[in-house]
Amino acid sequence: MLLKMLLGVLCCVGAFATENIAEQLSPPQLLLVSFDGFRADYLRRFPMPNLKLLYSQGILVEQLTNVFITKTFPNHYSLVTGLYAESHGILASNMYDPVSHEHFHINNDSNPMWWNEARPLWISALDSGYKTAAMMWPGSDVTIGNRTATHFLPYNPQVTFKQRVGNVTKWMLGDKKEKGVMFAALYWEEPDRSGHIFGPDNDTAMSQALKEVDDNIGLLISELKTTGLWDRVNILITSDHGMTQCSAQRLIQLDNCLHPDNYTLVDLSPVTAIIPLKDPEAVFKLLDKCHEHMKAYKKPDIPDRLHYRNNDRVQPIILIADEGWTIVLRGDELPRLGDHGYDNSLPSMHPFMAASGPSFRQGYRISSLQSVDIYPLMCKLLSLPPQPNNGTMTRARCLLAAESCWDVPLVIGLVVGVLLMLTAITVLFRYLSSRRPPGSRPFQRLQVDDDDDDDPMLE
Ligand code: AMP
Ligand code: ZN
Ligand code: ZN
Repeated sequence: MLLKMLLGVLCCVGAFATENIAEQLSPPQLLLVSFDGFRADYLRRFPMPNLKLLYSQGILVEQLTNVFITKTFPNHYSLVTGLYAESHGILASNMYDPVSHEHFHINNDSNPMWWNEARPLWISALDSGYKTAAMMWPGSDVTIGNRTATHFLPYNPQVTFKQRVGNVTKWMLGDKKEKGVMFAALYWEEPDRSGHIFGPDNDTAMSQALKEVDDNIGLLISELKTTGLWDRVNILITSDHGMTQCSAQRLIQLDNCLHPDNYTLVDLSPVTAIIPLKDPEAVFKLLDKCHEHMKAYKKPDIPDRLHYRNNDRVQPIILIADEGWTIVLRGDELPRLGDHGYDNSLPSMHPFMAASGPSFRQGYRISSLQSVDIYPLMCKLLSLPPQPNNGTMTRARCLLAAESCWDVPLVIGLVVGVLLMLTAITVLFRYLSSRRPPGSRPFQRLQVDDDDDDDPMLE
């Protein structure tokens, strides 16, 4: 009996110890937050005290090179899969699938078929036994690979930021019945909404929008502090794309070039997707010379660097407007004062990334990173095996406290410095040697002499 009791106690202690060790070994929870349409240079243009406080204690990536097309859905799916749009299949806000003959629009996005070419982190992390949450993130209320995150809410733009944060912190904390989630993704519609309405060049309106975004970051930090999560979670704040100013003086009217009977329109601006209905070559020729601020590509000729070709949902012809130009069918009405979706090499299309938490270096900044690199970074933070992806840890590694990392400019500076010093010493030595009287050169005999016979030391 006594032996049984002793064994029972030992078992309990053992189980408790194992759970404790497992808890200590498990990595910090990760919270990924996206503020839609946060152009990188807003950080320099507007005071963002709460965001600045966050990255002064952590890291800042000043610009992220995002994926083409620089729209909300493609880029949010890239952030959580590490894939270019052609590889994850969410190629635009409006799509047509020639295999299933289905149409996609961001307000009608719940058919899993569109999302099933990839697995977002909130799904793949379930395979490692983690619980996950996704709050309003594009795709989060869709059943992908027959699953959803452990916690999510159906998309509803009426749900306030405070309500979203309240749910996310509750899910991260867990309760007696269920452990807290290891990974949570949180989405907010601003400053994208204001950028479209007022244009990013409107200082007054955008400073108000950015103040509200920063207040929300303050609210998030204070909620994390109140709940005791702040010191133990890694938090990563980023965005999907930037924004550029449009103008009624920069309109491209497609009807001026081609009658609409000639094609089916899948998506319009700033990247138009077209299925020719009549002679494709003739349709392409007309579009190719349509406007000097719009480039036309046949699908096989879309540049490699855009990673926007190898998918059935890329249509036979695409048109790409130059920065700030808007493609319309007809008329002189400008639909939006600000827009995005343009070439992802344009700085105005780039967002930023800031992070802080136990795994990050403190007060460290780098100028740029690819947005597809964020996925492998998050997998590393969560000790998860990444799915095949287009990102790399090469640059992102430097953001982590536990990684030793060469600072390339510093290393180049050190090497140049050492070389300069050696050159100076050599020059000085030669100068001093040349100034000694001829008889007082003690090392002269040690110089290599080709003609051995002449060397009295060898005789
Ligand atoms: P866009 O500016 O066209 O690239 O898309 C931004 C818009 O996408 C936002 O203003 C939202 O209305 C919408 N949106 C964002 N997340 C979701 C979501 N999870 N489900 C449906 N629509 C969304
Ligand atoms: Zn967006
Ligand atoms: Zn937008």
